[in-house]
Amino acid sequence: MDAGTYGIEHGTRVAGDAAGSVPVSLLLVEDSPGDASLVTAALADAGGFTVRWVETLGAALAALADGDYDCLVVDLGLPDASGLEVVDALLTPAGDAALVVLTGNDDEASALTAIKEGVDDYLVKSDISVHGLRRSLQYAIERAKLTGHLRRAEQSARTLSTIVESTGDAIFAMDASGLITAWNRAAEELYGYTAEEAVGRHVRVLHPLGEEDLPATLDGSSGGRTVRGLETVRRTRAGRLIDVSLTVSPLSEPDGRLIGASVIARDISERLLLEGQLKDQATHDALTGLPNRALLSERLSQALAVSASPGHPVTVLFLDLDSFKTVNDARGHLAGDGLLREVAKRLQGVVRSADTVARLGGDEFVIVCPDTDSAAAQRLAERVTEVIAAPVRINADVVHVTASIGVAIAPPLEADAESLLRHADAAMYEAKARGRARTQLFDVAFAERSRHRLELADDLRTALRDGQLEVHYQPVLDIATGRPVGVEALTRWRHPERGWVPPATFVPLAEDTGIVGELDRWVLRQACRDAVVLNVLGLLDADARMSVNLSPRTLGEPDLVEYIRRTTAAEQLPVETLVLEVTETAVMNDVLTARRSLEALRELGVGVALDDFGTGYSSLSLLRQLPVSRLKIDRSFVRNLGERSDDLAIAASIINLARALGMETGAEGIEFLEQRRLLDQLGCPLGQGFLWSKALPLGELIALLGQQAVNGAAVAPASPDAAALDLAAPDCGTGHSVWFYRDQAALETRLQHAMSAALRSGDACLLIASALRRESLQTALGDVLTEPQAWGRYLELDSDVVLDLVAAGADGLSGCGKELTRLLARLGAPARTVRVFSDLGPMIWSRSGAEAVALEGVWDQLRGNHDLDVLCAYDLGREWSPSPSDLAGRHDDAAWVCAPVTTVLTVP
Ligand code: C2E
Ligand code: CA
Ligand code: CA
Repeated sequence: MDAGTYGIEHGTRVAGDAAGSVPVSLLLVEDSPGDASLVTAALADAGGFTVRWVETLGAALAALADGDYDCLVVDLGLPDASGLEVVDALLTPAGDAALVVLTGNDDEASALTAIKEGVDDYLVKSDISVHGLRRSLQYAIERAKLTGHLRRAEQSARTLSTIVESTGDAIFAMDASGLITAWNRAAEELYGYTAEEAVGRHVRVLHPLGEEDLPATLDGSSGGRTVRGLETVRRTRAGRLIDVSLTVSPLSEPDGRLIGASVIARDISERLLLEGQLKDQATHDALTGLPNRALLSERLSQALAVSASPGHPVTVLFLDLDSFKTVNDARGHLAGDGLLREVAKRLQGVVRSADTVARLGGDEFVIVCPDTDSAAAQRLAERVTEVIAAPVRINADVVHVTASIGVAIAPPLEADAESLLRHADAAMYEAKARGRARTQLFDVAFAERSRHRLELADDLRTALRDGQLEVHYQPVLDIATGRPVGVEALTRWRHPERGWVPPATFVPLAEDTGIVGELDRWVLRQACRDAVVLNVLGLLDADARMSVNLSPRTLGEPDLVEYIRRTTAAEQLPVETLVLEVTETAVMNDVLTARRSLEALRELGVGVALDDFGTGYSSLSLLRQLPVSRLKIDRSFVRNLGERSDDLAIAASIINLARALGMETGAEGIEFLEQRRLLDQLGCPLGQGFLWSKALPLGELIALLGQQAVNGAAVAPASPDAAALDLAAPDCGTGHSVWFYRDQAALETRLQHAMSAALRSGDACLLIASALRRESLQTALGDVLTEPQAWGRYLELDSDVVLDLVAAGADGLSGCGKELTRLLARLGAPARTVRVFSDLGPMIWSRSGAEAVALEGVWDQLRGNHDLDVLCAYDLGREWSPSPSDLAGRHDDAAWVCAPVTTVLTVP
C-alpha cells in the first residue's frame, strides 16, 4: 500500500498552521496508512507541527540519523519490529525527542510497560482527539526535555565525582557552620580521616590547635569570592602538621544564600622543603654546610645593628689556613675537601650558639661573635688556633695545618659589616705577612697600608707600561779566582713620587695582583737583550750565564716555555745562556706544577737554580727528582759564616749535597773577605755580593767589567776591609743599606763602625737607644767618643721609657728629652746632615704610646730641618716584630727592610 493513497505523503510537510511559534517537528512511524492519516489529520487540525511519516522501524532509524525531531509518534506493531522491541530500538536514537507510542484499545498494558521503559507517553488510536493529541504531545516533549537534562546532569555529576575522587588534591565541602559535608579520597589520604569519619565533623579538627577559624568565604570576609593559594598549616588525624595550599570557594543557593564552602587542599610540604633547600643553597656553602658570604654579611649586619655598643662589641675573626694549597696539591682535592670540612667542624665546636661560623670560599673562614670584647676575642682566637693545630687525619694520612687570623672589633671600630670584614681581612693579611700561624688585631695602619698597597699596585701597572722599571745586574763570580762568570738580573723600580721601591715590596704586590707574569716576561726579554749586548762586547766568557728570577706564578704559566723559546730566538741569544731562579719554597709549595715546568725548561736547555736554598723544606728525595742545575745558598747562612759554626755547617752541607747531585752551588750576599775565604774553602764555586758589587745598571756593569778586563781577570772587592762600614756604599736596590745580625755583639760592632764613620765626617749624630743597651753601647762607642763628644744625660721622656741619648757634633754634647727639640736647633743649621742612630724603631713603627709620638715628632723636625740619615736597629723576633711590609713605606725618606733576625740597620 502506498502512503500517498491515503491523501498524505511520506516525507515532511507542515501540518496545520505554524503561525508565530517554531513548529514542532514530528516523526510519525506507522505502517497503517489509515492510522497515519488519522494522526496527521489531527495534527494538522491542532496546528504547529511539521510531520514526517515513515512506515518501518528501519526507515525511522534512517530518518533519525539525518534529522532532528522534537517528537516521535510510533506504532508498536511495525512490519520489521513490534512491541517493546520497537521502543528499545528507538530510545537511544531518539535522544531528547519525546517518544510517544500508539496503541490499540486492547493494548494499554503494553503501553504502560513501554512508559516504564522510558517512553514519554502513549496515545490510544481510537481515542485521538485534536485537543488531547496536542496536549499529550506537548507534555511528552517537555517531559523528554526534562529527562534529557536530568540524564545529562546525572552523567556530569558522575563524571565530576569520578574526577573529584581520582584527583590528587584533597577536596571537601562544609556547610555554613563548618560541618564537613563531603570528603574525597585524596582528603582521606591527606588528612588521614576516612570520609565516614570526616563527614559531620567540624573543620576545626583539621586546624593545628583545633581553633575555630572558619574560612573567610564563610565568615563573609572574602566578599563572597573564592580564596586561592592560601598557604597554611593543617593537622592530620595522626597529629602531624602539614603545609597546605588551600582554595576555598563559597557554596550558595541560587538566591545567593551562603550554604557552605568547598575546599581544595594541596600538600605543599615537599615544595616548601625544596624551596627551603634552594634557599639553603643560596646562603650556605655546599662543601661544609656553613653559611656563605651572603648569609654572613646578613648576620654580621644584624649583629652590628642589634648589639654593637660600647658594652657589647661585635668581633669578627678572619681565618685563613696557611698551607692549604700544599695539602690540596700534594694529596688531592678530596683530601683538601676533607680538611676543609674538618676545620669547619672544629670551628663550630669552639663557638657559642650565638656566633656564626662562615666559609667565604677557598680556605677562608669567618667567625662573627656578638657581645665579644677583645679579651674574649683573644681567648677565642687561642682556642681556634689550638683546635686547628690538632693533627687532621685524612684517610691514612695525618696532616698538620696552621691558620693566620685577623681580628676586628666594633666598637672601637666604627664599621658597617662590609668594612669590618675588610678590616679583619686586612689584619689577617698582616698576620700572614708577619710569618703566618698567628693572630693579629686590626690596626688602622693596616687599612692605610692596604690602601697604600692598592695604589702602589696601580702605579706598578703604570710603571710596566711607561717603562719606569729597570733591570740591574749583579755580577756572579768564580769565588776562587774572582772571575765574572755571569750576572743576575734584579729589577729596579724608581717610583716618580716615592723614589726607589724595593723588589721585596713590588714583587709580592705583582704576585697578589696577577701582573707578575707580565713583569717577569718583561724582565726576561730585557735580560736577553742585555745579555746579547754583553756577549757582543766580549765582556763575559762565552759560557757565562744570565740569571733571571721567576715568580712561582710565572713558573706555573703553561706558555712560559714557549715564550722563552720565542724570545731567545728573536733576540738571537743561545737559550743555554739563561738560568732561571726560582725560590726553593715556591717549588716545594707546588711540587707537581713546578716539576712539570722545570722539566720543560731543562729540556729546552735553560738552566734552573733553586734560590734561597736552605730556607724551605726540600726533601732530599724530591730534590733528586727535580731537574735543577744550581743551588743558591740563602743569604741568611752566608751572613754570619765567620761567626756561627752552624751556618758554616749548613753551607758546607748544601755545597756537598749539590756536588753529590751533580749541581752547581752559588752563594749570595757575600759582603766580607772572610765569607769569601770560607766559601772558597768549602768548595763553593760561585758567589755574588756587595763584596764585589751590588746590582748595577747595564752601563755601570759594562764599565765595571771593562775595568776588570783591563786589570786582569778578577773583579776587585769593592771594599778591601769589608768590616769597615761605609754607610753610603752598599745598596740593595733601593738606595738604602740593610744589614742583618743575629746577635747583639755583631750589631754593636757594626754600630761602632757606623758611628765612628759618622763622627769622623763631622756630621751631627744622634743616638737614641733604650736603657737596656746603654752599657753595651757605651763600651762599643767608648773608643770613638772623645771629649767634647760624651755620653749624654740619662733621659726620661714623658712616659716611663728611659733613654740614653748621645748628641754629638761640632757643638759637642747636649741635652735631651723634651729639650730634644732645643738640642736639635743647636745641632746645626738647616740642611746639615744629621745621622740618627736609633734602636727604638719598633715604637715609631707601632705609633703607639707617648714615647713613639715624641720620637716621631723629633724625627719629623729633623726631617724638616736637616738632611737626615736614619740608622735603625731592631731587635727582631719579639712579638712586635715588624715585617718588611710593616717597614716599607713607613717613612717617605727611608726604606725599612728587615728579616727575621736580630737587627736591621737602614740608611736612606
Ligand atoms: P734574590 O733573588 O735572592 O736576590 C738577591 C737579593 O740580595 C737582591 O735583592 C740583591 O740586591 C741582594 N744582594 C745581593 N748581594 C747582596 C749582599 O752582599 N748583601 C745583601 N744584604 N744583599 C745582597 P733585591 O734586588 O732587593 O731583590 C730581592 C728579591 O726580589 C730577589 O731576591 C728576588 O727574589 C726578587 N726579585 C728581584 N727582581 C726580580 C724579578 O725581576 N722578578 C722576580 N720574580 N723577582 C725578583
Ligand atoms: Ca735570585
Ligand atoms: Ca736569593
